[in-house]
Amino acid sequence: MADAELPEKKRRRIEDLTEKMAVDGGYDWDGRWNHVRKFLERPGPFAHPDFEPCTESLQFLLEMCKILVIGAGGLGCELLKNLALSGFRLIHVVDMDTIDISNLNRQFLFRPKDVGRPKAEVAADFINNRIPGCKVVPHYKKIQDFDESFYRQFHIIVCGLDSIIARRWMNGMLISLLSYEDGVLDPSSIIPLIDGGTEGFKGNSRVILPGMTACIDCTLELYPPQINFPMCTIASMPRLPEHCIEYARILLWPKEKPFGETSLDGDNPEHIQWVFKKSIERAAEFHITGVTYRLTQGVVKRIIPAVASTNAVIAAACSLEVFKIASSAYIPLNNYLVFNDVDGLYTYTFEAERKENCSACSQVPQNLQFPPSAKLQEVLEYLMENASLQMKSPAITTTLEGKNKTLYLQSVKSIEERTKPNLCKTLTELGLSDGQELAVADVTTPQTVLFKLNFTT
Ligand SMILES: [Zn+2]
Repeated sequence: MADAELPEKKRRRIEDLTEKMAVDGGYDWDGRWNHVRKFLERPGPFAHPDFEPCTESLQFLLEMCKILVIGAGGLGCELLKNLALSGFRLIHVVDMDTIDISNLNRQFLFRPKDVGRPKAEVAADFINNRIPGCKVVPHYKKIQDFDESFYRQFHIIVCGLDSIIARRWMNGMLISLLSYEDGVLDPSSIIPLIDGGTEGFKGNSRVILPGMTACIDCTLELYPPQINFPMCTIASMPRLPEHCIEYARILLWPKEKPFGETSLDGDNPEHIQWVFKKSIERAAEFHITGVTYRLTQGVVKRIIPAVASTNAVIAAACSLEVFKIASSAYIPLNNYLVFNDVDGLYTYTFEAERKENCSACSQVPQNLQFPPSAKLQEVLEYLMENASLQMKSPAITTTLEGKNKTLYLQSVKSIEERTKPNLCKTLTELGLSDGQELAVADVTTPQTVLFKLNFTT
């Protein structure tokens, strides 16, 4: 049957292609880029007003334009494939993860044999083998492992991340690359950031021109803080199945130590089974229904199911923006697209506005208003809970009598212990005065944020 002939046909087609490539002395066999040429080499009603059809644009995409893709997961696989097939060849990809079996249903550059290998490397190999001439360079690293000089080499950066912290860090990095002369932004220092995000059936795609249009931190209120249930609800007044699961996870696990000192591993089915069983007992006690194994796993691992089609739509929107900006042939998205197909299909574009006093991109000093009798703990909580700051583990330092003084730092245990007593002291007791500058470092930004303390009465 036809099935048996397929491999032979496929083999011949590949031989054919290889031969053509050899004849042309390169990878660009006749007609290879016709689909891209249609957009770049002829005028059209949707083209940018300044657009002049030319052949140089395609040459720029093929030979010069350097793109960085952050993340080689659900969005990353789609982005790499789309960009490579649109003519981009100099692509770098950064991802710190390895492939898990649960990724295979949608992260289509990976196969069962790749489980356990770095996503960036497998994705790069796949694209490079499949798309002749494409040179994807993988980096099995964290974005924080690279400095300015690495990021500066790219024309455009595309993010396909699931972490808001990583997104904010990347945003902060691109803002730190901006140079100003007499307060005027040097446009050549701007690296456009295209950001895609998905959550179940919802997604968004946005274009950020750092220093010119709304950045990630300008619109931080759009990302609600992760919902954590109040401990008192979990401990004594559960109403939802999630409360029962959290009870088993947070309170019973460390108390009953079902697997000795081992901490709870969301990927270990025995662990989930234990939490599931305990959650059912708890739910029965309070007449709560709806605890399932799947929900238990979801709550423990904090997962929202990934939907392949949402990733495909969002990555397509992002790739299109990369193409528009790289070619200057079309007007880019201005600047935020939302997509939702939970019930039917809804999509909408709006212009997110810059925030005048954005802590990341505004260059306006940040004010902290507190009475002198406020405790440092209150300042710390403000930095973490304020909707437009949402810091994770802020480290606060200041200068007192010409010396640097760490007021509080969480990430190093010995310093945390030494500085913890400061949290209960008032600002006056700490020797801080009105107008004092506080420097705050946090995982959400590569740069220290400066705050000015304004005493209120
Ligand atoms: Zn901003």
